[in-house]
Amino acid sequence: MRKYIKELAAIFFPETCPGCKKPLYTHNRILCSFCETDLPFTYYQDMKDNTIEQAFWGRVNIENATALLFYEKHDIVQKLLHSIKYHTHKDLAIRLGELLGDQIKSSYRFNGIDAIIPVPLHKKKLLKRGFNQSYLIAKGISLSTGIPVKTDLLLRIKNTESQTKKSRTERCDNVKKAFTISRNIELWENKHFIIIDDVITTGATLESCIVELLTIKGVKVSVASIATVL
Ligand SMILES: [Zn+2]
Repeated sequence: MRKYIKELAAIFFPETCPGCKKPLYTHNRILCSFCETDLPFTYYQDMKDNTIEQAFWGRVNIENATALLFYEKHDIVQKLLHSIKYHTHKDLAIRLGELLGDQIKSSYRFNGIDAIIPVPLHKKKLLKRGFNQSYLIAKGISLSTGIPVKTDLLLRIKNTESQTKKSRTERCDNVKKAFTISRNIELWENKHFIIIDDVITTGATLESCIVELLTIKGVKVSVASIATVL
């Protein structure tokens, strides 16, 4: 009965692709086949010294970094991220996470990762927004790779202002000391983490998170995001 209702509802209110707004076919998963194959993939998962890795040179030590897509204003990637953030399209965040996870899984550079850590939101912001998009992306990566998501190790202690209209130096000051590490970290010594954000712009937020994670003995950190402007 439920299946029948679902099929009937699909005739009158077909689900649409968040990329092109055309109705989805039943075999499509969140995005239509045209949008999904046409996405501007970076293929950075296999590229050593890519532009994201270069951006961290001289700032903080990372193992490897990648992003699924190139971000350009007014293109499909901006539309998709907008859809996640402002229209709460949670399934889309998870689906993009899965695609990113497939790439991470396929690359030897990301072998041996012990846990996925989403950039945390401050409690107040989480309550207001109701979800952390980085967590949903991390969940998608976990579905694809089988690597667990860890959310209680890195905590956000400062509720920072929006970063969008700030310069790189202002962004760095804004997120400085915004994060901390929880107690009982002995279990996590000598582990390799991959930290997840939705978009990498200057890398200031990630840098701040990585600095804290690297205070744990023997820890290595890699980086991944859905999109990059770098
Ligand atoms: Zn589409």
